[in-house]
Amino acid sequence: MKGKIVILGTSSAMPTKDRNNSGVYLQYRGRGLLFDCGEGTQRQIMKAGLSIYKTDFIFVSHLHTDHILGLPGIIETLDMHDKPRINIHSVKGIKSVLDCVLNGMIYAPDIDINIHEYLPQEDPFIILEDRDFTVKAVGLNHVVDCIGFSFEEKPQRKYLKEKIYQLGLDESDFIRLEKEGFVYKNGRIIKKEDISAVKKGFKFTYIPDTYKTDNIIKLAGGSDILVIECTYYDEEDKAKKYGHLTLEYILGIYHRLECKKIVLTHFSRRYKDSSLFENRIKAEGIDNIIVGRDFMEFTF
Ligand SMILES: [Zn+2]
Ligand SMILES: [Zn+2]
Repeated sequence: MKGKIVILGTSSAMPTKDRNNSGVYLQYRGRGLLFDCGEGTQRQIMKAGLSIYKTDFIFVSHLHTDHILGLPGIIETLDMHDKPRINIHSVKGIKSVLDCVLNGMIYAPDIDINIHEYLPQEDPFIILEDRDFTVKAVGLNHVVDCIGFSFEEKPQRKYLKEKIYQLGLDESDFIRLEKEGFVYKNGRIIKKEDISAVKKGFKFTYIPDTYKTDNIIKLAGGSDILVIECTYYDEEDKAKKYGHLTLEYILGIYHRLECKKIVLTHFSRRYKDSSLFENRIKAEGIDNIIVGRDFMEFTF
């Protein structure tokens, strides 16, 4: 297992008894990436058995309270445990929010808060380039500036055992191959490409608050796991007014998304249980869209 995704909160606006406000945690090769940080996210991380101190990156989609209220508390906890630095990626305005909150409280953190602010763009753009993965963002269609995020492992070269066996390559051949990119064996040149295949990396996309937009497909297309807001069932008037999605819309773009698994989140508290959503998905004969719940986990 290289990593796991844990859903920390699945309620819109206000938390409910069973659903916390927005938050998704991605643990990958010892790194922690947190997407959105609603009130109570810190305790959700602890309850999920994740290490809050290993959080390296926090991505905040927009500045509505249900996505950001947990941030000062997490920063304080990281600071109290001498975490030297936290990287925060969000829309323009987050710096002044944090300046205001942190300076307004009787608390002076030592932690280096490294803030990156972005203006929404119509096409996905890279916001973080790590050795093993890339994170992209795209502008969404909410009532305020809002961006969605996509995490993608870099493609990985996998050696093919049977080809290596067929060609009779040994350890010294591999050392040369790694160093020079090719090796002579039994009168022929063998390149890395001849004995390996490039495997697409794992892709996770998080689409928070938005009304209809093709930018969802631009960012989320081909994801292994897509966590997407589904505030309403089919109340189009409300969805348009408040800048949210309906299940109807998600079903309508389902085939264009080409995702292996779609997890719905950010439900309005007007729905007392999720059977309405589940029955509709079932009626469509779709088995890879699921209604998200707090603490759901997906490993990869
Ligand atoms: Zn929200
Ligand atoms: Zn919002």
